[in-house]
Amino acid sequence: MDTREICYLDNNATTRVAPEVIADMLPFLEKYWGNASSAYSFGNQVARHVETAREQVAALINADPRDIVFTSCGTESTNAAINSALISQPRKRHIITTAVEHSATLNFCKTLASRGYSVTFLPVEPDGSLDLHLLAKSIRTDTAIVSVMWANNETGVLFPVDEIAAICRSQEVLFHTDAVQVPGKLPIDVRSMKPAFLSLSAHKLHAPKGIGLLYVHKHAKFTPYMIGGQQERGRRGGTENVPYIIGFGRAAQLAMESLDDENTRVRKLRDRLEDALLSAIPNTVRNGSREPRLPNTANLSFSGVESEAVLLMLDRLGICASGGSACTTGSMKPSHVLTAMGLKPKLAQSAVRLSLGIYNTDADVDFTVQHLPGIIDHLRGGTSKPPVSRGASRKC
Ligand SMILES: *Cc1c(COP(=O)(O)O)cnc(C)c1O
Repeated sequence: MDTREICYLDNNATTRVAPEVIADMLPFLEKYWGNASSAYSFGNQVARHVETAREQVAALINADPRDIVFTSCGTESTNAAINSALISQPRKRHIITTAVEHSATLNFCKTLASRGYSVTFLPVEPDGSLDLHLLAKSIRTDTAIVSVMWANNETGVLFPVDEIAAICRSQEVLFHTDAVQVPGKLPIDVRSMKPAFLSLSAHKLHAPKGIGLLYVHKHAKFTPYMIGGQQERGRRGGTENVPYIIGFGRAAQLAMESLDDENTRVRKLRDRLEDALLSAIPNTVRNGSREPRLPNTANLSFSGVESEAVLLMLDRLGICASGGSACTTGSMKPSHVLTAMGLKPKLAQSAVRLSLGIYNTDADVDFTVQHLPGIIDHLRGGTSKPPVSRGASRKC
């Protein structure tokens, strides 16, 4: 199967690399493959392009380019932020995060807890929202960092990160936000939010997997996570991944240009898909508040069915969706996000996430709305026939 044969509704797991991004990257694989840190011009001429890309990603979040550290992925960025806060403030051994973080944060914090650090995992309300009074009350004199995601990858629910950043500032605690799901969907402005750290991952914004960034506020003390050469002004060792950095830069530019499309056309597609499924399929619930939410994400539970079975049948039709998050698929455990919201395990296990993007069209929504109700009816023992695998016929 390739792009022409699938109906891709899993943009929160990863996104298609934009053709513009590929075009910009190719010269740095074919012709300009020197080491950006070399003394001779064949190598160091690429450093100039790396700096242009740094300006492009900085513009995406309204940051000073000097405050950008390129990393290998979103996971490295979140780990590096939390690690830095702990190493830079050795007497502070308490971390505050939430129960609904991406595994990049959640599992790192669990590991830190097993190493003797103290971690508060803040609970969420049934609609996925956070109690800010509880957050403020949880800050202690030994709290090293508060790490709270901006947009939830499973439900699209948004946390009020500007308010959380202000609470942390007033209590003089470092704040990190995992903003991986945000670019291209909401404007990002670190100058107004003033977090100490902010993480992004390029493959969620139409650039390749394996490149990310950590924004580090000028006045935040930073202790490197990857220790090696003096790349990234001594903040991240390792030879610069030049082609991917170039691609990330272009993707950042495109993400700013697509804000409008995501918030009008894509939002309409998502709403039409969600409303149609909610009304066509009995005993279906939306997981997470309707607003504030990412414009591209729908998370629905179809009671009485296993999401694994639904995904298998959607796959026969070339529809790519996910249950819980991709990173936990394959383990039959119900989503930690949905159980934290109070869903019974059975209902959490019947959840399907549909996440759209700029390459989706009305045809994708029509196709899904045409087939999903029958699939659910079939799995619930109704009279609908299961879908037959269609070869490589359909164009999405
Ligand atoms: C995808 C994702 C990550 C991890 O990014 P990688 O680059 O895949 O390591 C972290 N947080 C959120 C919210 C994500 O959606």
